[in-house]
Amino acid sequence: MDFNLDKDQQMLVDMLRKMGKRENFKQLAVEIDKTGEFPDFLMKKYGELGLLGMTLSPEYGGGGQPNINAILAIEELAKFSPMIAAPIFESNIGPVRVIDAYGTEEQKKAIIPGVCKGEKSVSVCMTEPEAGSDLTSLSTKLVEDGDGYLLNGRKTFITGGGEASHYLVYSRYGDTPDYKGIGAVIVEKSAPGFTFGKQEDFMGLRGMPSCDLIFENVKIPKENIVLRIGEFKKLMTTFDVERCGNAAMCLGTAAGAIEEAKAYAMERKAFGRPICEFQDIQFSIVNMAMKLDAARLLVYRAVTGAGRGFPSMLEAGMAKCFANEMVVEVTDAAMQVFGGYGYSKEFPVERMHRDALAWRVAGGTVQMLRVAMASIMFARRFNQKA
Ligand SMILES: Cc1cc2nc3c(=O)[nH]c(=O)nc-3n(C[C@H](O)[C@H](O)[C@H](O)COP(=O)(O)OP(=O)(O)OC[C@H]3O[C@@H](n4cnc5c(N)ncnc54)[C@H](O)[C@@H]3O)c2cc1C
Repeated sequence: MDFNLDKDQQMLVDMLRKMGKRENFKQLAVEIDKTGEFPDFLMKKYGELGLLGMTLSPEYGGGGQPNINAILAIEELAKFSPMIAAPIFESNIGPVRVIDAYGTEEQKKAIIPGVCKGEKSVSVCMTEPEAGSDLTSLSTKLVEDGDGYLLNGRKTFITGGGEASHYLVYSRYGDTPDYKGIGAVIVEKSAPGFTFGKQEDFMGLRGMPSCDLIFENVKIPKENIVLRIGEFKKLMTTFDVERCGNAAMCLGTAAGAIEEAKAYAMERKAFGRPICEFQDIQFSIVNMAMKLDAARLLVYRAVTGAGRGFPSMLEAGMAKCFANEMVVEVTDAAMQVFGGYGYSKEFPVERMHRDALAWRVAGGTVQMLRVAMASIMFARRFNQKA
């Protein structure tokens, strides 16, 4: 067991830290939150630095690196803002990994090189208006049509909706019920019959596109099938790495909030003394750091153990669940250190708290993760349906 970063990983983290300072990502985070606009220049920059697709297969332009390197990069950049880390998440830990692992040669050639250059991106499309936690009830349907399929249905809360070039759509083949009927197909943004609903107006993660997807008799050629009927388990296995990316966003946001709270506690005076001299403030900062480190160990364990593959559901679930709750507690405590100023948009901790609240829902709620983990621990399935 080695808890140290190797030389290359340390260089990666140092490089990102310096870049963030040099390019004033702290201010960029404020602007993204204010305008809700994602700065496209970041894609070009990250592409040039080899940060996009660093975990993807080298045969298609990827970096062939282990998951942990992407996690470290996400964590470092999310200290400024999850939006600044988002392209690293999407291109390394997101649904493009399903294509990298299970796609056909043609699908990989068509998508992965573009993802590594920042020209293409893939959204994961699971949630429907009537099927969120109860994913296996999804009704977006594929009906045979010639040698392909026709796709009909609606997805909701899709990150990257309207912006991504490709959509990995979890769909039901015909009338086969429950998880057994679910597979996944690729839908290109320009496919006839595919349209977008209005953009969501979320409280946090401002600048992250998210909307409904509407499929009306969209032709799906057989070349666009990624996973067939009976392959739902493969989809969920690949999703475990995305869960660790979600947890890494939490590590970054919490670390950013602790840095802010510590600096403020050394500057702000009350009763003629810097507030860091009050034991309650010290303990609060120490508690935040302990919780962050505990989450970090869970996340690193899950991804390091998986190398370039997919982590176990139990380890990824524990990491995501713990990190999701940790970041809410830490950013809340950081706001308290700031007193009234913590509630003001003048300081970044209120934004961090708004961003923090997203992760315990996005990528599966902490409740549903507990349901899944309980089923592993008891070695039996607990059917949630009445
Ligand atoms: C910022 C953000 C980004 C997202 N990005 C995407 C994306 O890119 N792609 C995508 O497909 N989806 C995405 N989602 C959707 C997300 O995955 C769903 O919102 C989530 O799975 C919960 O589904 P729901 O909103 O329908 O809640 P519901 O399923 O209606 O649940 C409501 C509440 O009931 C609880 N609950 C439900 N069933 C049980 C049970 N059996 N036991 C205990 N508690 C239960 C839930 O935990 C939750 O607290 C995103 C959501 C957010 C907020």
